Amino acid sequence: MAQTFDPAAATAAYLAQLPPEAHARATAYTHGGHWLLLWGTLVALLAAFLLVRSGVLVRLRRRFEGRRNRPLLVAYWIGGLYIVFDAVLSLPWTIYSDWWRPRQYGLTSQAFAGWLGESAISLVISALIGGLFFALLYSLIRKVPRTWWLWSGGLTAVFIAIGMLLAPLYIEPIFNKYTPAPAGPVRDEVVAMARQVGVPSEKIFVYDGSKQSNAYTANVSGLFGSARVAMSDTMFKKGADIAEVRGVVGHEMGHYARHHSLWIAGVMSLLAVLAFFLVDRLFAPAARLLGGEEIKGVADPAGLPVLSAVLAVLLLLATPLTNSLIRIAESDADRYSLVHFNEPDGLAKALVKTIEYRAATPGRLEEIVFYDHPAVGRRIQRAMEWKAAHPKAPSKADLDVLARTAFTDRLVVFPNMPVGMDGIALKADGTWFERHDFGWSKGRYAVAKGSLCLDEERGSRRCYVIGRTRSGWTLAQGAGGPVAVALEPIRQAAAPG
Ligand SMILES: [Zn+2]
Repeated sequence: MAQTFDPAAATAAYLAQLPPEAHARATAYTHGGHWLLLWGTLVALLAAFLLVRSGVLVRLRRRFEGRRNRPLLVAYWIGGLYIVFDAVLSLPWTIYSDWWRPRQYGLTSQAFAGWLGESAISLVISALIGGLFFALLYSLIRKVPRTWWLWSGGLTAVFIAIGMLLAPLYIEPIFNKYTPAPAGPVRDEVVAMARQVGVPSEKIFVYDGSKQSNAYTANVSGLFGSARVAMSDTMFKKGADIAEVRGVVGHEMGHYARHHSLWIAGVMSLLAVLAFFLVDRLFAPAARLLGGEEIKGVADPAGLPVLSAVLAVLLLLATPLTNSLIRIAESDADRYSLVHFNEPDGLAKALVKTIEYRAATPGRLEEIVFYDHPAVGRRIQRAMEWKAAHPKAPSKADLDVLARTAFTDRLVVFPNMPVGMDGIALKADGTWFERHDFGWSKGRYAVAKGSLCLDEERGSRRCYVIGRTRSGWTLAQGAGGPVAVALEPIRQAAAPG
């Protein structure tokens, strides 16, 4: 059964499922998105400039300090309020980039009021948690002024870890409704997959992700056995077949099983050390540049806009690095899905649906700098190369069809048969016969559920389990192991009268 499967042609066929206009629109959306990074940083700098010039944080700090010395509380309040001020100043930009633009491209159908309401809730959450982070950060700056940037990496790691642990339990349910996945083939399949790779299998959820985004997606989140699998209802709405579900959920299980979030959190914390070190060195010139004469150095919470401005520029410069880090994990998750669940076509089919918000075939440099997922064209190509290298074992039903075709009108010849016997002749009309030294056995046969069963006219029945090898077919009877059989033309002359 030598098959010629061309991965490049299969990839091209998948990409051609979308018309050229759709690819062009995806490219426009993606290229525009690259520019948004730059404009977004400029907006952040402008907001920082306005906040510094207004002097509002310095005035608030003086008022909070009042008579008593309570620096932790002052930093908490200034930190939280800064996050709110910054969000309000950037609001027009956020409306454009996060709501209006995706809506123009048909990537979300969320109404403005709904979007604004959710943004307000996330702002409150960020202000509360961010305030705490800044309070502790400024406490480090005060207590260990020479090496605060080093300790801040640990602080960042702790915040990321706690966030990963608590977000699925307390944050995500605020925005979406999570319900246990309904009983049925999709749930059964996901439970079986989870058991196969040792992901906790009792928490399988569906959430109303279509509320915010039309993206076809799922995730596995949690830490240390608290994992839960959540699938966006878009996976059900867009008519997922089981192969697709296996491909996508297998990818997400890969993130969990291979601890990608821990690795990423670890590297991000190291990058945070580097970033805070640079903040320490660049704070004074940046404060001068933004005009913050009343800010008392890096330890002053009122200098938060300056600190954020430096961070925003560093973050922009680090884009290729952070994107590549995540992209490597994404590539690894694809490989995990293929290795453990072997659904290259399911994965490819699902990937095609993500092209609309991430153009499929960018140049190599564009991919490295801007893509936090490998380009879909390359991901499908890899899946197809995997498919070419790992032909799938046929399912029982497929095996039946193949065996029926192969065995019909053939003489099944066992090795080392006694002299005088030809083998079992299986005729197209569903009858069989076999010659012995002293006569014939004959009856009807059937191929079903991976077995060949022969019913003899006299009433007895024997069954063989059918197996397939690279070179042909095997049959196994009872306790005997599989035996390679030859399939030859029936010698009509030998048929019983
Ligand atoms: Zn992923």
